[in-house]
Amino acid sequence: MTRPRRIAVLGGGIAGLSAAYTLAKARQTGAPIEEFLLEASDRLGGHLRTERVDGYVVEAGPDSFLAEKPEAAALCRELGLGDQLIGSNDAERRTYILHHGRLVPLPDGLMFLVPTRLWPTFWTPLLSFRSKAAIVRDVFKPRPKSRGLEQASRGSNVAAGFSPAQSESDVAPNTSPALSGSNVPRGLDTERAGLKPAATFGDTFGDTLDSDDVVMDDESVADFVRRHFGDSMLENIADPLLAGVYGGDAAGLSIRAVLPRFWEMEQKHGSLVRAVLAARRQRRVAPGPASSGSGAGRSRPTTFGQPLPLFMTLRDGLGQLVEALASRLDPSRIHLGQRVVSLGRGGRAELRAVQGQPFPPGEGYVIGCDGGASFAADVVILALPTYTDGRLLAPVDERLAQLLGGIPYTAALTVALGYDAAALASLPPGFGFLVPYKEQRRMLACTFVHNKFPGRVAPGKGLLRCFLGGARDSSILDLDDIFIMNVIRSELHSVINLRAQPEFHRVYRWPSSMPQYSVGHTQRVKLIQSRVAGIPGVFLAGNAYSGIGISDCVRTGRTAAERALAVR
Ligand SMILES: Cc1cc2nc3c(=O)[nH]c(=O)nc-3n(C[C@H](O)[C@H](O)[C@H](O)COP(=O)(O)OP(=O)(O)OC[C@H]3O[C@@H](n4cnc5c(N)ncnc54)[C@H](O)[C@@H]3O)c2cc1C
Repeated sequence: MTRPRRIAVLGGGIAGLSAAYTLAKARQTGAPIEEFLLEASDRLGGHLRTERVDGYVVEAGPDSFLAEKPEAAALCRELGLGDQLIGSNDAERRTYILHHGRLVPLPDGLMFLVPTRLWPTFWTPLLSFRSKAAIVRDVFKPRPKSRGLEQASRGSNVAAGFSPAQSESDVAPNTSPALSGSNVPRGLDTERAGLKPAATFGDTFGDTLDSDDVVMDDESVADFVRRHFGDSMLENIADPLLAGVYGGDAAGLSIRAVLPRFWEMEQKHGSLVRAVLAARRQRRVAPGPASSGSGAGRSRPTTFGQPLPLFMTLRDGLGQLVEALASRLDPSRIHLGQRVVSLGRGGRAELRAVQGQPFPPGEGYVIGCDGGASFAADVVILALPTYTDGRLLAPVDERLAQLLGGIPYTAALTVALGYDAAALASLPPGFGFLVPYKEQRRMLACTFVHNKFPGRVAPGKGLLRCFLGGARDSSILDLDDIFIMNVIRSELHSVINLRAQPEFHRVYRWPSSMPQYSVGHTQRVKLIQSRVAGIPGVFLAGNAYSGIGISDCVRTGRTAAERALAVR
C-alpha cells in the first residue's frame, strides 16, 4: 500500500485518547499513517471529567489511579505533567465500615480481605467468631498437591488487542469510585497471592457462552471469600469494597478476573494468610528497583526508602491528563459529536468513495455515524463500551458480537458536596466510609476528599463525595437530583451526624459505565481475543477486559495502537 494507512480510533475516553496519542506520536516521527478519532459526545475524556467549583476541585468520575500500576503515571510524566503528580495523604488513611449504624474502622493489617495482623483482626467487631475461627483454620490449610500455577496460568488475563492484566492491582482498590479515596485500609498492600482449585464454573454467562467454551475453573468472589473467611468477612468487608470498585455484587464477580492474585495464591499456598505474609517477607528481602523521576507509578520504595502513596492523581484533577493528551492531537483529526452506528467491511462502492479516499475493493472498513457522516479506515481501534462494540461488529462476526454483548454493565452515580470545614467537625479522621448492603442504605461509600488529597479545597473548606448505584441499585439514576440530595443528606445525617446545608452540590450520572467481570470473564476474554485475531485490522481497548482502572485503560489503548501500527 503506497498511501498512508488510515487508522480510526472510536471513542475519546482515556483508552481511545491513549491510542490516538500513541498514533500521533508515531506519525510525527515518520510512520506512514493518518489517524483520526471519532467521539460521540461533545467532549473528550469519557469518565474522566474534572470541574472547578468556587475553588473546589471536583471529580465527576475517577479521582485517582493506583500508583502501583505504572502506566497512568508514566503517561503523565511523558506528557510533561510529572511535577503535577500528587499522592494520597496515606498517613490519614483510615477507612470505616458502617456496622449496625455506626462507623467501625477496618482492622489494621488487612490486605483487601486477608488479615495479616493478629490483634486488630481478633478485636474487630466487623468479624464474627466464625470468621475469626475460619482465619485461624486458613493459616493451617495444607498446600495443594497437584493443581499448581500451571492451571492458574491457563486462563490468565489476556485480551485481544490488549496485553495481559498487570496482576498486581487487580486487587481492587485502585479502580474504585468509592475506594478511590476513602476506603483502602491503611494496611492494604497490593502484593500478590496464590490459591487452590476454584470450584464451580457458574452459569453467569447466560446464553452467550457455549458449553464447549467453558474449559476452566472459576468461582464467584463471594464463594471464594466465604470458603476462606466466612460470611462476615464477605458481608462486612469484601462485598462493600467491591461494590466501591466495580459497582458490583461479590456474588456475581469472578475471583479469577477481579482478584487474580488471591486465586493464584490459593493455587500455590492453600492458605491466603500464609501466602500474603510470605509475599510481604519476600518483598522486604528483595525490594524492587528504585523508582525514577518523581517516583510516581511504582509500588516499590523510592531511592530514599520512602514507600510511595497508594493513589496518585494530578494537582488540578484528572482533567489535566485529558487536556494534555488532547493538546498533543491535531484538532482536525478529532471529530466530536460523531456517534458511530455502523462498521462495514471494505470493498463496497460507498467505501471507495468515502472522503475521496481511493480504497481498493476488499480492503478496509467504512464507519458510519449517526447523522450520516462516514469515514474510511484501513484499521479500526474500538475503545467503546463492549455493548457498542458488539453492535458494531455483529455484521463482521456474529459470535464475537454475542461475546462482547454478554459483558454486563452497572451504573454509577456520584454526588459532590462542598462545606465550610466547621460544618464537618463531626467527621472522624480518615479517607471515608463504606456501607455494606445489609445496612440497607442507598449510599455505597463516602470519601472525605479534603483528607485524601492535598489542594482539593480552599483553606477552611471540606469536600465529600458520595457513591450510589451499582449492581443492586442502578435505578437510582432515574431519580431526580432533589430526591437524590434528600437521600444523601438524610443518610449523612444518620451516619456522621452532618446536618449542615452544603455550599454547593453536583450530581453526576454514569449509566452503563462499569463492566462487570462476571464468573467466567477470563475465559470470555480469551474467546474474544481469538475471534478478534481473525478480523484483519480490528483492535479492542478499554476497561472491559483486563482491568477497569485508568492505568489498565492507558495500557490497552497504547497496546492497541502499537498493534495497529504494526499492521502492514
Ligand atoms: C464514577 C466512576 C468512578 C471511577 N473511579 C475510578 C478511580 O478512582 N480510579 C480508576 O482508576 N478508575 C476509576 N473508574 C473507572 C475508570 O474511570 C474507567 O474504567 C475508565 O475511565 C474507562 O475509560 P475508557 O476509555 O475505557 O471508557 P470511557 O471513559 O467510557 O470512554 C468511552 C468513550 O466512547 C464514547 N462513545 C461511546 N459510544 C460511542 C459511539 N457509538 N461512537 C463514538 N463514541 C462513543 C463515549 O462518549 C466515551 O467518551 C471510575 C469509573 C466511574 C464511572
